[in-house]
Amino acid sequence: MSVTKSVCIMGVTGSIGKSTADVILSHPDRYRVDAVTAHRNVAELAAAAVKLGARFAVIADETLLGELKSALAGSGIEAGAGESALIEAAERPSDIVIAGIVGAAGLRATLAAIRRGAIIGLANKETLVCAGELMIDEVRRYNATIIPVDSEHSAIFQVLDDHAPERIERILLTASGGPFRTWSLDEMASVSRAQALAHPNWSMGAKISIDSATMMNKGLELIEACRLFPVPESKVEILVHPQSVIHSMVEYVDGSVLAQLGTPDMRTPIAYALAWPERLPLVLPRLDFAAIGQFSFESPDEHRFPALRLAREALRAGGTLPIVLNAANEVAVAAFLAGRIGFLDIAKLVEAVMVAHTGERLTDIDHVFATDDLARRRTEDMVAQLCL
Ligand code: NDP
Repeated sequence: MSVTKSVCIMGVTGSIGKSTADVILSHPDRYRVDAVTAHRNVAELAAAAVKLGARFAVIADETLLGELKSALAGSGIEAGAGESALIEAAERPSDIVIAGIVGAAGLRATLAAIRRGAIIGLANKETLVCAGELMIDEVRRYNATIIPVDSEHSAIFQVLDDHAPERIERILLTASGGPFRTWSLDEMASVSRAQALAHPNWSMGAKISIDSATMMNKGLELIEACRLFPVPESKVEILVHPQSVIHSMVEYVDGSVLAQLGTPDMRTPIAYALAWPERLPLVLPRLDFAAIGQFSFESPDEHRFPALRLAREALRAGGTLPIVLNAANEVAVAAFLAGRIGFLDIAKLVEAVMVAHTGERLTDIDHVFATDDLARRRTEDMVAQLCL
């Protein structure tokens, strides 16, 4: 692997963005960074742009352009702001775009990268949940390539023989179970923000940490798996594996099960996406199987974690319902993080907004944004009612 590849890191100030920067900085001969983006964190964006030697730095909040220009003064790095600049970052001709923005906010930029036929290391699962088949159609139409960064989907990607989908019996999507795996509903009713953010195995951004605690993250991943791989929903089983060492498994018709294992560190799937179809040496702790001793497995509990049932329902219904699931969840998680609602209210709100929605067939990308907008407003109204 001798050719230097250029990379655009969307969401460089986040957990995925920082891990991507870390991998790239450990292989400066193989990667150079063209563009980096963030939402509001000007200081960290500017620092990352300088450290990575980026050419273009974009802040999504337009009101912060002046601050970004000041922070980059004398560096020679071009500054941009707003949605159009995010799209421009994705459209510039880098070899790989790491989609590390959180939430549906990443959709337009990811689509821009797809429409120029880029290789996309996709962490931003919400975009695939929302835009679904439309996004996959665009990938085919523009000959783009999606390499999943989510550790479970990276694992499946590595062991799946997608040339012969009829040989796949089922996909076993593993889940840690989150910090409340063994908690009763009564105990979960009063959990604090700090308790919900404290994931037992992974260090991640706030939104995905809460999604892991409600297990909505696994629900979104179920939808993501059915979008990425040639399997129906009925063939994807969620399996709780508290150690988070087996990142997922594929069972074939002859009973063979292939798994991908590794330490719970996102730099491994990120490096895989950056180097695909090759592999990048990484100096990370290796698995010590004797020290681990045992792996355990459990079935998920949809009664205590209703987000799993809601995601399956949204996937089965298709059309606009997954967009509603995602938008309602994003608003509800933000409300929980802001201390406005309780932990169990998150899934209750998502269910209420889904029930209030009249499902429709998804027509085009504008339909995605219109549905997302409507579902957000409905959820905000319901949050406001709860807070009265
Ligand atoms: P973080 O919250 O840590 O980072 C999010 C990044 O997106 C930040 O750079 C943030 O900028 C930027 N951002 C937030 N809102 C917007 C917006 N409206 N417009 C543009 N940029 C925005 O998230 P994570 O890194 O944890 O997660 C990113 C994505 O990757 C999510 O979709 C998540 O589900 C997925 N993922 C994450 C994993 C992890 O280990 N963290 C594992 C697997 C998947 P700023 O800092 O300025 O707010």
